[in-house]
Amino acid sequence: MLIYDFDLPALTGLLKNWDEPAYRANQLWQGLYQHLYASANEFTSLPKPLREKLSERLNFSPLKVKLFQDSSDGQTRKTLFELHDGHVVEAVLMRYDPDTNSGKGRRTLCISTQAGCAMGCVFCATGQMGFSRHLTKGEIIAQVMYYARALKEENLTVTNIVFMGMGEPFHNYENSMAAIDILNDSDGYNFGARRFTISTVGLAPQIKRFADEKRQVNLAISLHAAEDDERLAIMPVNKRYKIDDVIAACKYYVETTHRRITFEWALINGVNDTPETAQKLAARLFKHFDYSQRGMLHVNAIPLNPTQGYDGEATNRRRAAIFKESLEQAGVGCTIRMRRGIDIQAGCGQLAGGAS
Ligand code: SAH
Ligand code: SF4
Repeated sequence: MLIYDFDLPALTGLLKNWDEPAYRANQLWQGLYQHLYASANEFTSLPKPLREKLSERLNFSPLKVKLFQDSSDGQTRKTLFELHDGHVVEAVLMRYDPDTNSGKGRRTLCISTQAGCAMGCVFCATGQMGFSRHLTKGEIIAQVMYYARALKEENLTVTNIVFMGMGEPFHNYENSMAAIDILNDSDGYNFGARRFTISTVGLAPQIKRFADEKRQVNLAISLHAAEDDERLAIMPVNKRYKIDDVIAACKYYVETTHRRITFEWALINGVNDTPETAQKLAARLFKHFDYSQRGMLHVNAIPLNPTQGYDGEATNRRRAAIFKESLEQAGVGCTIRMRRGIDIQAGCGQLAGGAS
């Protein structure tokens, strides 16, 4: 069993079965998530026989580093991890600050929730691989612990965690949420809920469930098209959940939680980057949302990261700026995101695709 697969009550139960006092579980929890210990023998506050038992029975390091790459500017590091059964997943750390070493900047960690993905978006390297399996909550957490430890050596911390690596987090809903709950625990890693962002391909029932759970976690929806036939051509999931179903679920989310929502848009040259498309997108959103709710909506547009299995091209700067302007004129805020780590194939699933 992987140690990170235990939440605190489960760990307490386990140690109780081993006839250990309850406070041992808390010591273990603190060691794992406050001190970031990576192996049983680092838990010097625990008696040696218990350390040995832990080391024999539990797995503390589920991720084997298979490959890592730094971008040429040194601001982005992508790591490819091998899981116990040979599947690979990746996580990417992006530093945003001219003066990263001051500790002031943002250090955003992008993590995976599945090996591969079942959603099959044609422009996505992970989608092109197909689905292998869900990650356990512990395998999701372990990616964070790996980078948390690496940054600790520089006296730095992870400041934001985005579920935008390989896989669809709402297809692995329970494990993704359980990982967030464990990382959020104030006696443990204590990572603030507002500093997580979940990105989903748009599974409407899960968006509603997420709304009902009233989490403080940020939500982003991958839309990429304003017409159903156009979306279906690049995102097979649109067969199941049409654009209106997705936006209606988003409206439910905004009205239930009073939280803002972000729409993601990969700008593909000549496919979804014209001013007309921007206007259609705004009209589509305002079919559901009142114009007075426009402050709750935002579009994050990012030029496509080209992948081997798809011949679409990235929109250039000028076209991206026109798209943004058209959307804003129609009443929807838009940010053009810089591509990070393009030289290390930091797009979703690109490293794993290349290595397999
Ligand atoms: N499965 C989730 C989260 C992982 S993908 C989702 O689809 O939202 C994270 C983001 O990267 C999504 O918005 C996805 O559409 C986008 N993406 C995937 N491949 C891309 C590519 N080649 N170029 C630009 N964005 C891409
Ligand atoms: Fe899966 Fe997201 Fe890639 Fe689509 S974009 S295939 S949902 S990981």
